[in-house]
Amino acid sequence: MFKRRRTRTINIGGVKVGWKFPVSIQSMAKTDTRDARNTIAEIKRLKKAGCEIVRVAVKDVIAAKSIKTIKRRADIPLVADIHFDYRLAIESIKSGADKIRINPGNISSPNHLKDVIRAAKKRKIPIRIGFNSGSMPPAGDGQTENGDSFVGAALRYIKFFEKENFRDIIVSLKSSDVRETVTAYRGLAARCDYPFHVGITASGAHEAGIVKSSIGIGALLLDGIGDTIRVSLTGDSVSEVVTAKNILQSLSIRNFRPDIVSCPMCGRCQVDLAGIVRKLETELSALNSQKPLTVAVMGCEVNGPGEARQADIGIAFGKDSGVLFRKGKIVKKVKEKNAVKELLKNL
Ligand code: SF4
Repeated sequence: MFKRRRTRTINIGGVKVGWKFPVSIQSMAKTDTRDARNTIAEIKRLKKAGCEIVRVAVKDVIAAKSIKTIKRRADIPLVADIHFDYRLAIESIKSGADKIRINPGNISSPNHLKDVIRAAKKRKIPIRIGFNSGSMPPAGDGQTENGDSFVGAALRYIKFFEKENFRDIIVSLKSSDVRETVTAYRGLAARCDYPFHVGITASGAHEAGIVKSSIGIGALLLDGIGDTIRVSLTGDSVSEVVTAKNILQSLSIRNFRPDIVSCPMCGRCQVDLAGIVRKLETELSALNSQKPLTVAVMGCEVNGPGEARQADIGIAFGKDSGVLFRKGKIVKKVKEKNAVKELLKNL
């Protein structure tokens, strides 16, 4: 197993973030925060999907005040996302935000930053210094062309916070470019011990966005970098959480359900393997089991018995039926129509 990068620990409303704790999943509500009712409904859906920390956009004082109601009813660590106006950070802290995300690219006045730091310190809440390549300070003050200048700008801001004796920090260095993002995080990882919020910003929609996020976040996690992740997709926020879970599960960092090993099918397959796997996926998700288990479903005798034998439970199909294996041993022959039922029964 790869080693996690050693970091400090921060506490986001009860969720501990840092190398000793599980990589947490977060997302951002897409509703208008001023509309507390709809935002709470979205957060509840996110929570049900497995989200552990939710960020909300604070674009004015009404949104900042709305945090109070949302927090009371949504019951999840809440992060206030602040751009441009430092006073909204202070108002959000007063409303009970569990963390503030500020973008140094658009809140750069030292005095304003000091006010935000003071307020966060008083309430003992962390601040994410959230760099986005799209809103970096102008050239000469850390303009981002590549990972290196990104890192330089981040270090300058981190120093500012440290000078104010504030170390309750988490950092992100996101770009929509996978290579730039990965280079930046790798560069900063060696130069500070603050936990990292990792993601590819504005990664796009659907499969393309999922692939981009998975490659970027996955590459960093394989390096042991990343303490909380957010997948940024254009579309429903629940799919961000589902993707984040899939990334963590694929790397065996966290387990959310049994793993399915299934073959891609070819002309040798004589059963409806895709239908069987679809049904099995639904049934396994409903189990809500975090026990690490591998279930193999294979289309024929070429690779089927080998994979089925190596899995905790597996089936290798032939014509209209298959051989069921459990912990490497043959259990029995099962008909195609009973395959899912038998696999579940023998879990
Ligand atoms: S296991 Fe059999 S059916 Fe599946 S892809 Fe391999 S050869 Fe084809």
